[in-house]
Amino acid sequence: MTTFPSISEMIDLAGKRALVTGGGKGIGAAISKRLVEAGASVTIADIDPDMSEVANELSATFALCDITIPEQLEAAVRLASDESNLDILVNNAGIYPPTGRIAEVSDEFVSKMLDINVRAQFSAAREAANCMSSGGSIINISSIAAIRGGASISAYSASKAAIIGLTQAFANELGPKGIRVNAIAPGIIETEGLVQQKEALKEGGIDVFAAITANPLRLPGEADYIARACLFLTSELADFITGHILVVDGGSTA
Ligand code: NAP
Repeated sequence: MTTFPSISEMIDLAGKRALVTGGGKGIGAAISKRLVEAGASVTIADIDPDMSEVANELSATFALCDITIPEQLEAAVRLASDESNLDILVNNAGIYPPTGRIAEVSDEFVSKMLDINVRAQFSAAREAANCMSSGGSIINISSIAAIRGGASISAYSASKAAIIGLTQAFANELGPKGIRVNAIAPGIIETEGLVQQKEALKEGGIDVFAAITANPLRLPGEADYIARACLFLTSELADFITGHILVVDGGSTA
């Protein structure tokens, strides 16, 4: 019988290099914090320069990076990998302005949504994979909006559904190299980004604050729940898991 390491050894990320996009706020910040706690060397890539303070507080490295700009993305990957090997990518940066009614959605709006949430996430996964060797782990952040849709968020739902396809395709192609690729589909999580969209989403018929606890567990959605799931998927506990979409939503889609 194979002898496996202990639980504490399996969740120990000491010596691992991780890159978290959009890691300065919300879900990305909670993930960065847990990865640092588990011993990883974390680089936070964020479009907001003020997020360098968050990185300092977490003892993480900061890369000012808009993931849609190839040069900035490549520089962030180089920094995070120390021009050598990257172990973990958390492909988290994304936007979710309400789409509005389907009849009124412009092609420009759809293109912008797909450019950030799909094209740039694809590029980030590709650039990271190019710096990974066996044991590498990519976590893409999708959404329950990919699974059940939602009025007034059609372009967002489409973008997050694409992340499921991306995850499964990358998992198949990179699996033989020992690189695992999984996605997390968070339920509604109270973050700065979500609070900013509150009124606009309400106009579209989504009361996010009612929705935050509208799950069978009656638990408000906290970013740390997503961070815990991310830690599990990046750790050796999930060595036999790839191409998986882990829904973390308090059971709201159950
Ligand atoms: P958030 O609070 O808005 O934080 C996202 C961070 O990413 C911000 O610091 C943001 O900077 C940064 N960012 C945005 N565009 C970027 C770009 N092009 N390049 C680099 N960084 C960029 O968002 P969140 O609620 O934590 O959501 C994080 C991810 O989870 C997103 O992919 C979102 O779709 C997904 N998600 C969220 C929920 C939820 O309920 N919150 C549910 C399901 C899935 P700025 O603030 O300056 O734009």
